[in-house]
Amino acid sequence: MLLVRRGLDKMKNIIFIAPPAAGKGTVSDFLVRNCNYEHISTGDLLREEIRRGSPLGEELDKIIKEGNLVSDEFMIKLMDEKIKALPKDKPFILDGFPRTIKQAESLDKMLVSNNVTNNMVVFLDIALEDALARVLGRIICPKCGRSYNINHEEVKPKVDNICDDCGIELEKRDDDTEESFKIRFDSYLTNTKPIIEYYEKKNMLKRVDATIPLSDIFQIIKNEANK
Ligand code: AMP
Repeated sequence: MLLVRRGLDKMKNIIFIAPPAAGKGTVSDFLVRNCNYEHISTGDLLREEIRRGSPLGEELDKIIKEGNLVSDEFMIKLMDEKIKALPKDKPFILDGFPRTIKQAESLDKMLVSNNVTNNMVVFLDIALEDALARVLGRIICPKCGRSYNINHEEVKPKVDNICDDCGIELEKRDDDTEESFKIRFDSYLTNTKPIIEYYEKKNMLKRVDATIPLSDIFQIIKNEANK
């Protein structure tokens, strides 16, 4: 009886909290390909706006390059629209939101007002030195946003510097410099880390070591999302 019910249930929605370059994008990509997740990456949304070359994009470009956070007001409005437009028949991943306590509190309200239940928070934990090594080796596809890493065997592209899916040349992110990374990591410690305690108190948090093999990370998250 229990097995039949589980088969019919949707997997849990996943909210990722992580330092920069912990692998949110890579794990999200796996869940999209294998478990029918809808993926909302705030970083990808902002980079799309930058590529459009709009005045807003130019402003965002400056903030992101310097390693700073975009304002809560802007991000909450953007997210509110995205949550309202989510398909009802699929679980979703939030990758990059919330990044501050204010965003986390707003997200709670958005989820309640849109009747979204069955959520879990995954904290992908990684130390500064490991994250820095990943940042320096990261290359992304400018078309689909897929992330690869030349310093991480499991996520190297099949052909050097070419996206496995789109066949086009991979690029370095403008904010993946050592200088910008240090500002982003500091911002993570100050603004984002307090969210971990916030969700722990709500009993929603699952901590996962981001340095174990990716196949293990996928399995742990899949199991947890199916509980
Ligand atoms: P990511 O691709 O998640 O590493 O995001 C890239 C950059 O976009 C971040 O370093 C921030 O500058 C900005 N950004 C993404 N999500 C948020 C957010 N929720 N709040 C503020 N800034 C954000």
